[in-house]
Amino acid sequence: MSYITNHLPTAELQALDAAHHMHPFTTNDELAEKGARIITKAKGVFLTDSEGNEILDGMAGLWCVNIGYGRQEMADVAARQMLELNYYNTFFMTSHVPAIALATEIAKLAPGDLNHVFFAGSGSEANDTNIRMVRTYWAMKDKPEKSHIISRKNAYHGSSMGSGSLGGMTYMHEQGGMPIPGIHHINQPDWWAEGGDQTPEAFGLARAQELEAKILELGADNVAAFIGEPVQGAGGVIVPPSTYWPEIQRICDKYDVLIIADEVICGFGRTGNWFGSQTMGIKPHIMTIAKGLSSGYQPIGGSIVCDEIAEVIGSGEFNHGYTYSGHPVCSAVALENLRIMQDEKILDHVNNVAAPALQEGLDKLAEHPLVGGVNVSGMMASLPLSPRKETRSKFAGAAGTVGYMCRERCFANNLVMRHVGDRMIISPPLVITPEEIGTFMTRATKALDETYTALKDENLF
Ligand code: PMP
Repeated sequence: MSYITNHLPTAELQALDAAHHMHPFTTNDELAEKGARIITKAKGVFLTDSEGNEILDGMAGLWCVNIGYGRQEMADVAARQMLELNYYNTFFMTSHVPAIALATEIAKLAPGDLNHVFFAGSGSEANDTNIRMVRTYWAMKDKPEKSHIISRKNAYHGSSMGSGSLGGMTYMHEQGGMPIPGIHHINQPDWWAEGGDQTPEAFGLARAQELEAKILELGADNVAAFIGEPVQGAGGVIVPPSTYWPEIQRICDKYDVLIIADEVICGFGRTGNWFGSQTMGIKPHIMTIAKGLSSGYQPIGGSIVCDEIAEVIGSGEFNHGYTYSGHPVCSAVALENLRIMQDEKILDHVNNVAAPALQEGLDKLAEHPLVGGVNVSGMMASLPLSPRKETRSKFAGAAGTVGYMCRERCFANNLVMRHVGDRMIISPPLVITPEEIGTFMTRATKALDETYTALKDENLF
């Protein structure tokens, strides 16, 4: 047994990491050359790395640590649950209190008749559940041919075969035989990048109407569901024009196509409501959840399912499930997270304090010569970088070069902002204070200034 601790020198940890640990969405050779930044601990909105740097986490991990890092109550609940019942499954006519309590609480928080929860270990697993569930639903209603699912280009729904197929990332589809059959992708409602001279409203409507065209092309009797993130996250925080979702809703209602809202990022307060569907006025039949459900303290996801689908699916055996569906420790921790969110009125904090402060800071950043616009919904935002903001122009050269430069400057200034192409992405813990948002803005401005200077030096601007 080798004992590897925080006390080893960074270089040694990096070498062991490169030798034995394959990272997601990473060129591992490049990582081995540069060495990973090793995070050793975290508290509130700050991470500490192995060199002792204190880094403001403007991404809440991967959009998930909504209540902030290092909460004692969460650790206490996990420890208590591990001693009481560390594991039992929810197959074969058994259940346990944490899963019962969490499902009940989620049903209370979810809008409309979304009263039933099928648990999974992650967002990807939950979206795989959704594919099988909507197809099984229609098959049980004697419409087995109603099986095609429509999604969007540049959507992100996970990394497994099913969820990666639902996603619209072509660079993912190029590896490993995706998409699986029966999944189709229409264009996304990204006005900033693709709206040209149209008004956002006209563009949003046109992009939504691509759904109608696709349904008619496939035949409404063949289309099971439409899936979308209320606000696209990993695609670049794309807040759709106000006309988009109402038109999608109208079309789905008209053709009897189910709506799956992927709330993995938007859920649990990120957009200022419990769910992004409420912010965008969507009435989904299924919502995918993960991330903020437990604030990332334990891996857990699920599908929140409406009465009608649960009733039909429940009349037969649904041959689907995961060893960790409703895992007792994950469920207990998620329940504690929801208690904290409610007892501490975190949504009020978002709506009255944090989101207005973030908006104000972003409006100032928008004046920076590199920043071409601001997309924001509650506590998720993106800043597209542009050489000419008046025309929303893109940089010459490979997309993502400038975004990557800026992300590296952020890191050097102890700030985590992710980049998607040449967009900077912001999604801090929901509990962030105005003072911490001030720190974020100071560091972000410095990173933008340094990127700007570097671009000028290289005659790229
Ligand atoms: N859906 C959305 C909208 C996501 O953002 C993600 C993860 N970023 C997923 C699904 C997949 O979740 P997981 O990584 O937990 O499988």
